[in-house]
Amino acid sequence: MADADTTPLMRQYREIKRGYPQAILFFRVGDFYEMFDDDAREASALLAIALTSRDKSSADPIPLCGVPHHAAQGYIAKLLRAGRTVALCEQVEDPKLAKGIVRREVVRLYTPGTLIDTEFLAPGETNYLAAVRFARPVSPKESLVIGLSGLDVTTGEFWVMEFEGEGARQQVHDELARSEPRELLYSEQDEDVSSVTAGLPGPRLCARPSGFFDAEEAEALLQGHFGVHTLDGFGCRGLTAGLGAAGAVWRYIRETQPTASLGHIRRIQRRWDRETMHLDGATIRNLELVRPLGCGEAGQAVDSTVLSVLDRTSTAMGSRLLRDWLVHPLLDRKAIEARLDAVAELKDRVRQRVAIRAALRTVQDIARLSSRMTLGVAGPRECLALKLSLAALPEVHGQLASFSSPLLAGLKEGWDDCSDVHDAIERCIDPGAPMSAREGNVIREGYDAHVDELRKARTEGKGWIAALESKERERTGIESLKVRYNQVFGYYIEITKANLSKVPADYMRKQTLVNAERFMTMELKDLEEKVLGAESKLLAREDELFVRLRERVAEEVPRLQAVAQALATLDVLTSLAEIASLNRYVRPTIDETGLLRIREGRHPVVERLSPDLTFVPNDTLLDTDGNRLLILTGPNMAGKSTYLRQVALIALMAQVGSFVPATEAHIGLVDRIFTRVGASDNLAAGRSTFMVEMVESAQILHCATSKSLILLDEIGRGTSTYDGLSIAWAIAEFIHDRERLGARTLFATHYHEMTQLQSLRDGIRNYRVDVQERGDDVVFLRKIVPGGADRSYGIHVAKLAGLPTSVIERAQEVLMSLEQPDQAIDASPTLPERDRPGPSLPQPHPLIDEVRQIDLFSITPLDALNRLAELQKRAGRA
Ligand code: ADP
Repeated sequence: MADADTTPLMRQYREIKRGYPQAILFFRVGDFYEMFDDDAREASALLAIALTSRDKSSADPIPLCGVPHHAAQGYIAKLLRAGRTVALCEQVEDPKLAKGIVRREVVRLYTPGTLIDTEFLAPGETNYLAAVRFARPVSPKESLVIGLSGLDVTTGEFWVMEFEGEGARQQVHDELARSEPRELLYSEQDEDVSSVTAGLPGPRLCARPSGFFDAEEAEALLQGHFGVHTLDGFGCRGLTAGLGAAGAVWRYIRETQPTASLGHIRRIQRRWDRETMHLDGATIRNLELVRPLGCGEAGQAVDSTVLSVLDRTSTAMGSRLLRDWLVHPLLDRKAIEARLDAVAELKDRVRQRVAIRAALRTVQDIARLSSRMTLGVAGPRECLALKLSLAALPEVHGQLASFSSPLLAGLKEGWDDCSDVHDAIERCIDPGAPMSAREGNVIREGYDAHVDELRKARTEGKGWIAALESKERERTGIESLKVRYNQVFGYYIEITKANLSKVPADYMRKQTLVNAERFMTMELKDLEEKVLGAESKLLAREDELFVRLRERVAEEVPRLQAVAQALATLDVLTSLAEIASLNRYVRPTIDETGLLRIREGRHPVVERLSPDLTFVPNDTLLDTDGNRLLILTGPNMAGKSTYLRQVALIALMAQVGSFVPATEAHIGLVDRIFTRVGASDNLAAGRSTFMVEMVESAQILHCATSKSLILLDEIGRGTSTYDGLSIAWAIAEFIHDRERLGARTLFATHYHEMTQLQSLRDGIRNYRVDVQERGDDVVFLRKIVPGGADRSYGIHVAKLAGLPTSVIERAQEVLMSLEQPDQAIDASPTLPERDRPGPSLPQPHPLIDEVRQIDLFSITPLDALNRLAELQKRAGRA
C-alpha cells in the first residue's frame, strides 16, 4: 500500500467508496469534488479534464482529478450521458467546528432513472425508473408471473402491473417499449432479464439482491409511506410479483435520495393492460410513432415521427401526455367518442382555441415544479414560475365556459384555480428573486417586519459607514481617505503612502500594500458588526421564510397535481384540434362492425414530408367478409409500405381520439395492430434477418384475433424464392381462414404468384400500386388500384438509383434470358426448372377433390376398387 493510503482523508475516502463500487464518487474537498484511483482515470477521460496525482513524491501516487463544486452539475450530466452513475459525497459538518477530519456522507446518487434536476431532464418525456420481478412457477399447475412497476419521481406517477402465462415475457417487453424507462432494476437471481429487454434501445440495467424485491417488505414499506393499513384500496390485492417490483423501485429511490421527502408520491396505481390497445415494441417502432426508424443515424430528420407531426401542445405536461395517449390507443368506443367530441368542439371554436393555446403557453411544468416543492429542491424562481403558471388558470377556465362536450365540461366542473397558492407566492416572493434562496433578496418588501427591519439596518449601516468616512477625512485632513470592504478583512480604512504621516494614533494597522496601508478603528469595528450582522441575519431570515412558503406550497401538491393533469388533458385535446384543422383531418366514425373504410387516406408523416402537397391519397376497404385480406403488389419504391402504414396509422389515430388524414373514415374498432414490416435491425441480438422475421410472424399468428389489424410487408423475403413464397402463401391462408384467424390484413409482397389466392379464397382481394411505363422509364403513380402487378420493375428502380448504364443494360439481357430460357444468350445464368418465375403453385389437385367427395358409406367394395383403379390410371396420366 502506498503511503498516502494511510492519511485520514484517504482512509475516509476508501471507506465511503466501498459502499458505492459501481458509481463514480465525487468527494467534496473544500471547493472541489475530487475523484481518485480508477474513478479519476475514467472520469478524466470522459470529461476531458487533467489527470494528476495526489502525492507526487510517493513511489505509488494516487491518480486524482477534480472539478469545481459550482460547476459539478454539468460534469455529472456528461457522465450520466456516458452511461455512468455518480455518488455525490459532501462535507456534512462545518470544517471550522470539526474535530479532526471533517465528516463526509453521500447525499445523493445520480442515476438516469432517479433524476429530479430540471437541467438533466427532457421536458416532453417521462423519466421512469422501473423494476421487473419474475415469480417462477413452483408447481406445474402454476404459470410464470412477472411483476413490473414504474415510478417517475419528477411527477410522482407510480404504477404497478402483473403479467401471467406464456405471453408474459413478450407483454413485459412491449410495456417497456411503450413506457421507455431510463433504468430497469432486476434481481440478481433473474438471469433472464434479457428475455424482456432484448432489442430495446436501452434502459440502464441495474441488478440488486433478491431480498430487495421481497413482496412482504414492499407492502410494509409502501403502507408506511402512504399511511394506510392495506394496499387493497389501490387495487393491489393479491399482487406479489408486482409489489416485489414496486418495493424495489421504492428502495432504490430511497437509496439514491436518502434525505428527500417523497410526499408528492401519493398513490400507487394498478394498471391494466386490458383498457388500452396492446401495441408491441415492433409495431411502435415500425409505425415510427415516437422515434424515427434508424434513430441515431446522422442526418435523420427529427420531425419524421407521428408524435412530432401531431404534437402542437403548448406545455411539457401536454407533450408527455400526448406521447402516452399515442402508445396507448383506447379500445372502448365511448371513451374514444368522448375524446373526439372534445376535439370536434375545440376545432370548431377557433377563437377560444387560440385563446386557450395562448394562455397555456405561459404555463410551465406544474407537475415537475410541484414535485420539486415536496422534494425541497425548488428555488425562488421556481416558485415564481409556479405562480405565473397558476395565473393563467382563470383565463383558461373562462375560455372553457361555452364548451359542453362531456370531457371539457368535466374539466370545467372540477376546475381549481389554486388562487390561494398563487396569492401566497405572490405575497411572499419578490418578483426579481434570484435562482437560489441563499443569495438573498428573495422576500418581498412588506411581507415580514423582521426582514424589513434588517434590510433597513443594512441600508442605514451603509449610510453610517459613509458618514464615518467623511468624519475621518475631516479629523485627519486626508482627502483621499476611503472606507472599503472586502471578503477577507471586512471593512477597513485605506490611506495612501503619501499621507501616512497624518494617521492618528488610534488607527490600528491591518495590512500593508505597495502604495497604501489599511487600518481599523474601534468605531469602524462596531459599525461593521452591526452592518454585517444584519446581512447574515437577513439571509438566514429570508431563507427561513422561503422554506416555510415552499412547505406551505408542498402541502397543496395533491391539488397542484390535479391541475397539472387537467391542463395536460386540455392541452392534448387542443393540440389534436389544432392539428386537425391545420392538416385537414376529419372526424372518424367509430363502431364495432369490423368495417374499415377510408376515403382518400394519407400518411400523416409522409404527406408532411412530400413537397408541395404532392402526396397521392388512396382509398381503403377492409371488412370481415369479402375484403378481409388485401394482397398488394407493385414494384419496389412504388409506395406499398407507405400505404400499409397509412391504414394502420389512421385506425390508430382514430382510437387515440384524434381526427384522421382522410376525407372520410369509418373505423370498425381494432383490438390490436400487428406489423411485420421491412427488415428489422435486430441483428445485434444475434438472430438472422430471416429468423427475426419468422419469430415476429409467429407472434402475430399466435396473438392476433379476428378483431386485429395486421400488416405484413414482404414476408419471406429473407430466404430462397421457393421457401419464401411457400411461407408467405401458408401465412396468408392461415390469417384469412375464419376458423383459424380471419383478421383484417394488408399483405404487401413482391411474389406475384400470391395474386392467385384471390380466386382460391373468398375473402382475398388483389390490389397493386399503379405505374406507368414511358419507353424505358417507369413513372410511379402512387395510386392503389384493383388487380395484381405482373412485373417487378426492379431494373427500373436500379436505374433510378443510379447504377451505371452498362450494368443496367446487362441486367436487362440477363433478365430476358431467365424469362425466356429458349432464347438464352451466352454466359447468362439459368435457373433450375423449379426456380423459374411463373405460376407453378401449390394448386389443389382436382383428383384430391374427387377423392374427398367419395361417400364411403354408400359405395360397394367393388365400386370402390373400380374407382381406385380409375383414379390411379388418371393420376398416372396427370
Ligand atoms: P415500397 O414499399 O413499395 O418500396 P415505399 O412505401 O417505401 O415503397 O415508398 C417509396 C417512396 O415513395 C416513399 O419514400 C415516399 O416518399 C413515396 N410515396 C409513397 N407513397 C406515396 C404517396 N401516396 N404519395 C406520394 N409519395 C409517396
